[in-house]
Amino acid sequence: MTLFTPTASWVMDEHRMFADAASRVYADELVPNIEKWNEQGRVDRAFWKVAGDQGLMGGSVPEEYGGAGGGMGFDAITIYEQGAVGDSGWGYSIQSIVLHYLLAYASEEQKQRWVPGLVSGERVAAIAMTEPGTGSDLQSVKTTAEKDGNHYRINGSKTFITNGQTADLIVVVAKTDKNAGAKGVSLIVMESEGTEGFRRGRNLKKLGMKANDTSELFFEDVKVPQTNLLGDEEGQGFYQLMRQLPWERLAIALTAQGCIDFALKETIAYVQERKAFGQRVMDFQNTRFKLAEMKTKAEVLRAFVNDCIARAEDGTLDAATASMAKYWGSQTQNEVMHECLQLFGGYGFMMEYPIARLYADARVQMIYGGTNEIMKELIARSIDV
Ligand SMILES: Cc1cc2nc3c(=O)[nH]c(=O)nc-3n(C[C@H](O)[C@H](O)[C@H](O)COP(=O)(O)OP(=O)(O)OC[C@H]3O[C@@H](n4cnc5c(N)ncnc54)[C@H](O)[C@@H]3O)c2cc1C
Repeated sequence: MTLFTPTASWVMDEHRMFADAASRVYADELVPNIEKWNEQGRVDRAFWKVAGDQGLMGGSVPEEYGGAGGGMGFDAITIYEQGAVGDSGWGYSIQSIVLHYLLAYASEEQKQRWVPGLVSGERVAAIAMTEPGTGSDLQSVKTTAEKDGNHYRINGSKTFITNGQTADLIVVVAKTDKNAGAKGVSLIVMESEGTEGFRRGRNLKKLGMKANDTSELFFEDVKVPQTNLLGDEEGQGFYQLMRQLPWERLAIALTAQGCIDFALKETIAYVQERKAFGQRVMDFQNTRFKLAEMKTKAEVLRAFVNDCIARAEDGTLDAATASMAKYWGSQTQNEVMHECLQLFGGYGFMMEYPIARLYADARVQMIYGGTNEIMKELIARSIDV
């Protein structure tokens, strides 16, 4: 299994070597822990350090901040290979998203302070946009950041925050001007350690992605230095989010591709072994046609995803195209998981077979990172100009 199409122009030998290395690290250090992490509701902190030591998180980060200085293709590989070993619990996609916010908008001093720790895995990041009362309609966030001397005072609450129990660096989406709509939104980095007034709520119980901690976060008069604002001035947050969301959306499609490849591999092995009516399940025409359909879907998605990575590498991945990748990738993933599970029969419903977990994990891909309905809105806007 590989992310790469044979003709993908962005792929160099270094990418292939990096993919092999990432796959080995996952096989040795992640796969043996999947069950345990799903039961405990979070990934062990030690794995973040392993991933950092093995260079999985710095592929696209400049060398001066501890990375390897490559392009977005390296991050794409880290994300795809995780799915391709059958895991969607480790919250690296969010770490990658925050890294790219910092690389794009942080000052030199902020980059030096925050980026190396995220690359090495000593620190874990989260991005806190969603609130109990608002998700899709991001500009209606109620969390405020009011100036107080050299600080902001942050008040409000967030929910559904990936890495929320673990994160020590949290990009908080807050209103620095309550009356300015989207133009009043700013991104402020909060370091959680020892920060008074900041509280983590429950590690939320979910349908799937159980190894990934997802939390409520509460801010009561939390004092954050004004120098933690991302960007030169307040009110840039909405624009900054819109500029970076294409990467978050492509990351979701990459997870989808990895999980699809893994599910197909597992399903093919199962139907080749399992017998019914004196023959292999593989030999029923229905099975062969279902697998043919799914393989076609996987390859069509791969071609599109590779094209999107090439665009992400040269900075031309636009919002509508990334939305197509997220919408199409997550929908295809759900279709494939549904069909694969069916081919396992009753065993597909048993948690001891990974397909049951993959089926449950897939569902949220159509919801987070902007729901697929919002993706269609964004795509439609590019049509109706
Ligand atoms: C496991 C998980 C992890 C998450 N991680 C994070 C995270 O790390 N950080 C973070 O900030 N958020 C995170 N989220 C939140 C996620 O991004 C939101 O749940 C998502 O954006 C949808 O918002 P909502 O839940 O408020 O739904 P709502 O916005 O209330 O939507 C409800 C329904 O209405 C539909 N709808 C809304 N507006 C429109 C419209 N204009 N046109 C058509 N239909 C519409 C939606 O598509 C949906 O079907 C996570 C969520 C989950 C479940």
